[in-house]
Amino acid sequence: MINFTVGPVQSSEEVRKIGYEQVPYFRTSEFSDIMFENERLMLKFAKADDDARTVFITGSGTASMEAVIMNTLTVEDKVLIVNGGSFGQRFVDLCEMYEIPYSQIKLETGKALQKDTLELYNGKGYSAFVVNVHETSTGVHYDMKMISDFCRKNKMFLIVDAISSFLADEFNMQSWNVDVMITGSQKALACPPGVSIIVLSKNAISRVEKNHPKCMYLNLKSALKNGERGQTPFTPAVGILRQINARLKKIESNGGVEKETEKIAALAEDFRKKIKDLPFEIVSDSMSNAVTPLHPLTASANDIFLTLKDEYGIWVCPNGGELKDKIFRVGHIGELSIEDNDKLIAALKDMQERKMI
Ligand SMILES: *Cc1c(COP(=O)(O)O)cnc(C)c1O
Repeated sequence: MINFTVGPVQSSEEVRKIGYEQVPYFRTSEFSDIMFENERLMLKFAKADDDARTVFITGSGTASMEAVIMNTLTVEDKVLIVNGGSFGQRFVDLCEMYEIPYSQIKLETGKALQKDTLELYNGKGYSAFVVNVHETSTGVHYDMKMISDFCRKNKMFLIVDAISSFLADEFNMQSWNVDVMITGSQKALACPPGVSIIVLSKNAISRVEKNHPKCMYLNLKSALKNGERGQTPFTPAVGILRQINARLKKIESNGGVEKETEKIAALAEDFRKKIKDLPFEIVSDSMSNAVTPLHPLTASANDIFLTLKDEYGIWVCPNGGELKDKIFRVGHIGELSIEDNDKLIAALKDMQERKMI
């Protein structure tokens, strides 16, 4: 099997070996040291300020999205949410559920946020901005510099879901004045699903300190407090946190976050070059290095997904809902190589010869 989905993705052999090991007891100084190192490397790779903190949530990315909404926002806020697809919609649903006043900027499928659209919300008293920097469902990557300038000008608290973008695209919490960044274990971190990660600026920490969410498990105050001693309030996914540790250290020893991003960008570029001769249209205004969204001109996207999986042992990422037959996505994150790209292209060319596309 070759897995070109957007998560869970393929893990390195080193990470997989840890999955085979016994899970150690964790209320120990040894495990605390692993967690301190995880926090330090996350802050470094997110380019966070020295007074920022990282918390590790046992739960997939959505658990951290929910934790961030309930711990950093209140009914006193007026939130602006970019809704460009199913992940943007998730933030809308969360604000709805927690009764946090919001407006949404609803974008057409595959369309990026434009400056003139954003300008309409200038000086309207919004206190917070929420965006999925890479709307993975459609493969659109938003302009963080533009968003950051807008938030600075309007003094807005900035929450960024970078779950599928972290490591794949440049990200700089400090220079973009980002208050909260969220990511997850099963995207470009290329570990099993089950852990999500929240990086909080000083400003975000002070919002957390003042807030009183009605939830025990996702209370970030206690996560921050326990993190001071390298621990978590409850039993975390110990094994995955050890895998994350190995992966973060590997990125560091390979030359850091820039090198990792370059590697993913090169895979994406190689694939996008090779797909040009095939009957597909790339359907995104502005892409992340993590994913290429493709619209097949001659066949159903879902049929292509099924044939690749069942007859070639290659997994691409299908889309749901109204995009089911229109779009499938090819991921460039996880343990993949140029040779893997070649295998996918060869399979698609074979399907073309068989008149399936
Ligand atoms: C994957 C992803 C999530 C989280 O989804 P989970 O299934 O809860 O891990 C959230 N936002 C974006 C942009 C994602 O790509």
